Amino acid sequence: MNFQQVAREETTKPGCYFYHINDGLHYNISSQREGTRYLKCVFYERGCRGRAIIDAVDGLVHTSDHTRNDLCPDAHYPNEMALRRAILQRCSSLEHASFIQILTQESHW
Ligand SMILES: [Zn+2]
Repeated sequence: MNFQQVAREETTKPGCYFYHINDGLHYNISSQREGTRYLKCVFYERGCRGRAIIDAVDGLVHTSDHTRNDLCPDAHYPNEMALRRAILQRCSSLEHASFIQILTQESHW
């Protein structure tokens, strides 16, 4: 099996991350034991049952099919998370800017 380089990016919660291999499928940590991380789809709460594991030998391996095909795969998810993080950061600072100004300034890709 080919080792997949796993990308780790922040969610909108500080200290929380999602994982992916640039194929449009994104996961949060579900549990972890003995060097293996068990992952579930970021849309788990919305009913998607996609799962994967990450271990030191194979990297990220998809183990269960994603069941919300209207949500997965989603190639824009990392950009959407980055935009959400930027907006939340702006909203938590004490500057005077309207939400429209923040949205316009932060959505520049
Ligand atoms: Zn999914």
